[in-house]
Amino acid sequence: NPYLGPSVEKTEKIKATNIPPAVYNIYKKPVLIHQGHMQWLFDHEGKRYLDLFGGIVTVSVGHCHPRVVAALNEQSKKLWHTTNIYKHPKIYDYVEKLTSKFPGDLKVVYLLNSGTEANELAILLAKSYTGNNDIISLQGSYHGYSNTIQGLTATQCYRMPIPVPAGIHHAMLPDPLRGIWGGCRDSLSQVPGSCSCPMDCVHSDKYVHQLNELLDNSLPKGKVAGFFAESIQGVNGTVQFPKGYLRKAAELIRTNGGVYIADEVQTGFGRMGDAFWGFETHGVVPDIVTMAKGIGNGFPLAAVVTTKEIAEAHMRATYFNTFGGNALASTVGEAVLKVIEEENLQQNSKVIGKYFMENLMQLQKTYPVIGDVRGKGLMLGIELVQPGTKDALSVPEVSEIHETIKDLGILIGRGGKYNNVLRIKPPMCITKEDVNYTISVLDQSMKQFARK
Ligand code: PMP
Repeated sequence: NPYLGPSVEKTEKIKATNIPPAVYNIYKKPVLIHQGHMQWLFDHEGKRYLDLFGGIVTVSVGHCHPRVVAALNEQSKKLWHTTNIYKHPKIYDYVEKLTSKFPGDLKVVYLLNSGTEANELAILLAKSYTGNNDIISLQGSYHGYSNTIQGLTATQCYRMPIPVPAGIHHAMLPDPLRGIWGGCRDSLSQVPGSCSCPMDCVHSDKYVHQLNELLDNSLPKGKVAGFFAESIQGVNGTVQFPKGYLRKAAELIRTNGGVYIADEVQTGFGRMGDAFWGFETHGVVPDIVTMAKGIGNGFPLAAVVTTKEIAEAHMRATYFNTFGGNALASTVGEAVLKVIEEENLQQNSKVIGKYFMENLMQLQKTYPVIGDVRGKGLMLGIELVQPGTKDALSVPEVSEIHETIKDLGILIGRGGKYNNVLRIKPPMCITKEDVNYTISVLDQSMKQFARK
């Protein structure tokens, strides 16, 4: 389709006046994205990019996937919206299908519109079920952007200079690379110098002990309401926890009166390859699961899934959400699940993710600026360091590499505490050819950087 929108210059002018100044351009020369198809994006001049970030893990099955578009079009002619005090069939089809993906008693679905909103509701559920008030999240976590959830988020660059709301605490991050005890993780790569325990990582107990210290020292005894954790930290640069940590942390929280809330906003919907949900790769079943992003392949949709027992504790207040689960969103959600299943996208994440990781590990051998490669399935991270050290590569240097990768036709994510991790979270339909292309672009970008 021909591009009929504003020029890049005009968008910059509008941005300067009408867009919040806290929204930043990720590139020096911004990309004006006009169209998308599956794993590809096209800018206003028709230049094609391989999208390895998927709108930050949101485009799960592919941009404008034809089957999702068809389902949406069909539904848009019948009914867009009613409220949840009436019934419409799509929501029933959808929640039945969605809950079939969950283990145990996780059977009750609240439909909402964003990850932040889902995490807000999870806090309400945890508090009303347990009767407790205090909530714990991990350092480095990202859970969203609202007054309360910004407090739960423990990533400095997403925090306004306002106090963390009372009753929110941050536990030590069990980070195998930078955590004080290291630790081993479930991926092909192993951190040099850390252990490689066959079962649970021996260091996971030490981080759990730290969590226990927090419970003991900072909260009324046995009075925690909930513990939030991503199954792999996304925004913080693909941080995987030592084996066994999440399972034991959940046990500890439960014995202290609280519930374990898995934030699957980035890790859910088959991306892990080995499992449909990230928590399954940790051998633990949560009490509450929150999800967004990939659930709708770019359509605003989110969900909280929990047990009947927890949902019943919330019955004193009628549940209402104007848009949550509307006919369009439910239709898209159902179509996305069907595509994941029928196009074997979980299996593709596993196979292509492994191939990607193996190739990245090879690349790491050539370029000492690559300090670590990690992740699972199609959620991978490449940590850039000062060669020969664990110190982060400087932000301007990472920006230079990041910009070259874009100029060579690939949009890759970026994050981590030091903004030095390249993040790979593409639509799950990518192929081996796309991986080969990526490796050659990374090779060229690193070469260009090393030559300077
Ligand atoms: N949880 C995680 C793990 C996320 O990565 C994000 C968004 N980056 C959110 C929650 C918040 O989602 P939303 O932006 O839809 O509010």
